[in-house]
Amino acid sequence: MSFLEYAPAPESRAILNLRDEYGLFIDGEFRAGSGESFATISPADEKHIATIAAASEADVDAAVAAARRAYDKTWSKMSGRDRGKYLFRIARLVQERARELAVAESLDNGKPIKESRDVDVPLVAAWFFYYAGWADKLDYAGLGADPRSLGVAGQVIPWNFPLLMLAWKIAPALAAGNTVVIKPAETTPLSALIFAEILQQADLPPGVVNIITGAGATGSALVRHPDVNKVAFTGSTGVGREIAKAVAGSGKSLTLELGGKAANIVFEDAPIDQAIEGIVNGIFFNQGHVCCAGSRLLVQESIHDEVVERLKSRLSTLRLGDPLDKNTDIGAINSRAQLDRIRELSQIGEDEGAERWSAPCVIPENGFWFAPTIFTNVQASHRIARDEIFGPVLSVLTFRTPGEAIEKANNTPYGLSAGIWTDKGSRILAVADRLRAGVIWANTFNRFDPASPFGGYKESGYGREGGRHGLAAYLKGAA
Ligand code: NAP
Ligand code: MG
Repeated sequence: MSFLEYAPAPESRAILNLRDEYGLFIDGEFRAGSGESFATISPADEKHIATIAAASEADVDAAVAAARRAYDKTWSKMSGRDRGKYLFRIARLVQERARELAVAESLDNGKPIKESRDVDVPLVAAWFFYYAGWADKLDYAGLGADPRSLGVAGQVIPWNFPLLMLAWKIAPALAAGNTVVIKPAETTPLSALIFAEILQQADLPPGVVNIITGAGATGSALVRHPDVNKVAFTGSTGVGREIAKAVAGSGKSLTLELGGKAANIVFEDAPIDQAIEGIVNGIFFNQGHVCCAGSRLLVQESIHDEVVERLKSRLSTLRLGDPLDKNTDIGAINSRAQLDRIRELSQIGEDEGAERWSAPCVIPENGFWFAPTIFTNVQASHRIARDEIFGPVLSVLTFRTPGEAIEKANNTPYGLSAGIWTDKGSRILAVADRLRAGVIWANTFNRFDPASPFGGYKESGYGREGGRHGLAAYLKGAA
């Protein structure tokens, strides 16, 4: 195969106006944290980006107190129409600073700039616009007449879509009239801190949103804080379980968005060209660091060889490298810990007898990288068919009949998403009906829209984000 040569096309970092050190954003201002500061690095070259404050228990307490004051004095008293104005303002500022946010996100997270620029940041703006529109229409959301906010929301988010997960959490909470304390992930705090500047620019009343950085202990202190009314968490099933225990019996509302091991089902009558692109997007988008990734490909036996062969040739054209280069398809793995986990599970896949193939790409010397990888001859009992790898690794299984496809797809402790590829509309409906997954895509994958609810069954969590359903999680008696 011949490769086209591409000249480097890096997005300039000059648009960033980063500080050397970031404090905690509490009560509308940056202030020092009393925990031990930490560094955030670029996973593409392991270089230091900035020093980040860590919130101690006392800082968490101060942030929750600020959110409570803002709730009592301003936000819960403000009309929906006025809350909406702030949300519209935030949405417009996100658009204005879109390039800067995209560069910061790719730098801190390792995702390709074309994804942060064309997917993450536009969706962030879309989420704020969408919920801005709801703020003065809560009476018409079908959630009861005059629905009431819950109070202070404590929110904890992961590193895979740092700014987008922040938007999913903050936009509905504020639209519904709650105030917020949010903790970004330790490895990706940067875009949240730029977002704090946007909140200042938007003149959001102090304390309505507080952004506290730190590690797991900070998140734990936040969700356990007695003056938090609502806990919203996105992350691993293990931590989600711990949080559910901590919150049980406290009277706090809880929504959990956890892991997944989605089946992407390709029937023999599927439009193959589109299916190949959909499979690639399903598992290699964002280096596979996607909770709803189509990590289990279920392909009908009759087309297995053709699909695998075409996948390999397509993957051989993907470019892995500098996340800030506009030609990059596969960026860096977010952290060394995540890389170790991907390596370990892939090794287990080989040891258990699956056949491994990795795309032939040059791996940069520094930073954290993993070539797009496919496992064939995977059995349903293999760890790589059961455990969430959260990396660019696809496990291919086969089926003969629709019934077998459904049974295999549902054979997982998770239930977040699924994909169906077929030419027949009736088959899409019949199969979708029997899949136990919160989101099901037909002849597409990994599509997101603020009007569409997202969330899981079983170990993928409970509650929905997005759409009218996403408001219910932040209103009394509605969830
Ligand atoms: P994680 O370890 O559960 O971390 C998620 C967040 O929780 C981070 O901010 C983390 O802080 C914090 N945290 C860690 N321990 C905590 C504790 N004991 N109490 C409270 N907070 C705590 O998950 P991750 O490895 O970052 O993210 C990957 C997982 O998230 C995957 O399983 C993925 O499927 C899931 N995910 C789900 C969705 C969804 O919508 N369903 C979306 C994205 C990701 P630190 O960063 O400092 O550790
Ligand atoms: Mg980082």
